Amino acid sequence: MYPVAFDYLEPRTLQEAVELLEKWGENASILAGGQSLIPLMKLRIARPRYLIDLNRIPGLSYIREQDGCVHIGALTRHVEIEESSVVREKIPIMQEAVRVLADGQVRNLGTIGGAIAQADPAGDWGPVILALNARIKCLGPKGGREMEAMDFFTFAYTTALQPDEVVTEIAIPAPSAPRLGTYVKLERVSGDFAIVSVAVQIDRDKDGICRDIGIGLGGADDRPIKAVPVEALLRGQKLSPKAIDIAARRIEEIASPISDLRGSQEYKKEVLKVIFRRALERVIERASPTTGGSR
Ligand SMILES: Cc1cc2nc3c(=O)[nH]c(=O)nc-3n(C[C@H](O)[C@H](O)[C@H](O)COP(=O)(O)OP(=O)(O)OC[C@H]3O[C@@H](n4cnc5c(N)ncnc54)[C@H](O)[C@@H]3O)c2cc1C
Repeated sequence: MYPVAFDYLEPRTLQEAVELLEKWGENASILAGGQSLIPLMKLRIARPRYLIDLNRIPGLSYIREQDGCVHIGALTRHVEIEESSVVREKIPIMQEAVRVLADGQVRNLGTIGGAIAQADPAGDWGPVILALNARIKCLGPKGGREMEAMDFFTFAYTTALQPDEVVTEIAIPAPSAPRLGTYVKLERVSGDFAIVSVAVQIDRDKDGICRDIGIGLGGADDRPIKAVPVEALLRGQKLSPKAIDIAARRIEEIASPISDLRGSQEYKKEVLKVIFRRALERVIERASPTTGGSR
């Protein structure tokens, strides 16, 4: 199907993009990689009257390390994250995740800013940035602001962004010492959205005690969620089989997945527990000197 007719606007600066958003409000949509928006327009689920293309604005695509954070520009393509040496070195969990995100074609065009603004409850970046305690930077007519990833996702396909705000950057804390982490995704077929997924990032001391832990869940609710009660449960603990058992049961309790074509609520709860356990076991295995893993 063809989209409903729209006016195509090409701002050359972020300020100009914000002014256009302010002017046209909910009649306008930002276009980034177009990998979610264009199919929705073709299906006439999205019917923007004005399309504001970010792609002519310089300086929105970058990955750089600064002040203890990795800063990723909103227009950075998934493939650039996949190929980044900074990401490989500092936040390898992102590279693990991007390799199972869609397929090569989508990764060439889709952007991290577009993916998080789309806020698909089964998307891959949501759980990852929640586990990593990322901050989302955006710009609107009143200036810039930042929010925790946890406050960003408010409902299925809905975020805390105002209609006249643009996501400009995702900032991820990246301590100098490498941390342990993994992303485990259960999908129906390769390249599909997750049935459920789990991102775990752990900072352990030399005795194997979790100094800090971040856990993000995909497909576990009407939005990507951060498993805060389970993080609290495991913080200060060794990841013993008993601790993992208790945590997995708690994961099941806090999850409230939506029944959809990828599975019923009951099924998703059950497999989430399994995937969560698998993620923790993988992290422990990577920490073991006998497996040679350091991350
Ligand atoms: C076949 C297929 C398979 C896919 N599989 C997966 C998958 O397995 N996992 C996964 O996570 N994703 C998957 N995706 C989605 C993909 O990751 C998209 O790239 C992503 O959802 C949207 O990014 P985009 O840059 O293409 O955004 P667009 O489609 O351009 O925009 C998406 C939405 O975000 C808004 N937006 C975009 N950029 C900004 C911004 N900077 N500030 C504010 N609002 C903005 C737009 O207005 C629009 O509402 C898949 C997509 C396809 C087509």
